[in-house]
Amino acid sequence: MSEGKFGKFGGMFAPEILVPSLKELDAAFKRFCSDENSKKELEYYLTEFAGRETPLYFCSNLSREYGCKIYLKREDLVHGGAHKLNNTLGQALLAKYMGKTRLIAETGAGQHGIATAIAGASLGMKVDVYMGSVDMERQRLNVFRMKLMGANVIPVETGSRTLKDAINEAMRDWITNVENTYYLIGSVVGPHPYPVIVREFQRVIGKETRRQILESEGKLPDAIVACVGGGSNAIGIFYDFLKDMNVNLIGVEAAGEGLDTEMHSASCCMGTDGVLHGAFTKILQDDDGQIKTSHSVAPGLDYPGVGPEHVYLQEQGRVNYVAVDDSETLDAFEILCKKEGILPALESAHALAHALKIADEFKDGIIVVNLSGRGDKDVETFAAKRGVLV
Ligand SMILES: *Cc1c(COP(=O)(O)O)cnc(C)c1O
Repeated sequence: MSEGKFGKFGGMFAPEILVPSLKELDAAFKRFCSDENSKKELEYYLTEFAGRETPLYFCSNLSREYGCKIYLKREDLVHGGAHKLNNTLGQALLAKYMGKTRLIAETGAGQHGIATAIAGASLGMKVDVYMGSVDMERQRLNVFRMKLMGANVIPVETGSRTLKDAINEAMRDWITNVENTYYLIGSVVGPHPYPVIVREFQRVIGKETRRQILESEGKLPDAIVACVGGGSNAIGIFYDFLKDMNVNLIGVEAAGEGLDTEMHSASCCMGTDGVLHGAFTKILQDDDGQIKTSHSVAPGLDYPGVGPEHVYLQEQGRVNYVAVDDSETLDAFEILCKKEGILPALESAHALAHALKIADEFKDGIIVVNLSGRGDKDVETFAAKRGVLV
């Protein structure tokens, strides 16, 4: 497979002026990965700051009720409340290693902006986050969180004033300031080498899971289930099991209000081949190639594309991609709260909902669900959707 390609997917569909910077980043990342001091430093921050390793928790109540062993990989317990910090810490350290002093990022709902702000504050780097002004209005508390953490949030007033416009502005900034600036991408998307960099920083999830399940069960799980927005938490837990053909790997996309409506974000299940944000992948587009607006009750899954490696794994038949709708997700969210005392992010509740759906197929087997984040941020959404007062 040629570098930066996953079969025919991936690649470096970036403005020509950025190609030298992407190649420099690729080379620097390879040096970073074989640099012992850098590895130690990342390990230090993951342990002492982010709180790794995270538990692989056995859900005794759910397991009894559903007739198979259900484990949760507790990424909700990572500092910041989600797996996102694994990546932002890794890339911020890489940026420092490259001699960059400033991080830029774009954010939709704000979660990646916050994770970047946290990493920047802890490593003493300047952080500028681009955010559509419509998104800023919708997510005022997250904007304030970023500011508290010392980040500068730059409103984007172009286009639909949402995520895709923020991505354009961040790209423009990087072109202008590449000398001192590192562009920190939040999922396994974008031009090469980003899908590889983000995957490598998220692989810690799967490495720990493998060790932990062998310790507690003496064998590998029958299935691993993870939600897929851009796909970083999913590839992070899948990657070290790709060669274990007896482990079913299942990526769960957002079916929103239904795959038969326009209101979903299921790019693997429903998308078609196209270029988005610098990579050839599957995207939600109309007949003219215009990007459709996506929808999900979970803000982190609300993206009209998916990481190119996922499309490759789907094509290879190694990973199965399915979709779960808003209503099934809200049910799973409530079930985990009531039965186990754990409040999952709505993103992660997609994965759990599917795991509960297929529990019957794995009678007496073992299912691991990647609980990518905690749901404190989603409590008001849940209440509004279920028509209850907070
Ligand atoms: C951002 C986010 C996601 C989606 O991102 P991926 O790159 O697909 O992992 C999933 N879960 C949570 C909790 C998130 O914050």
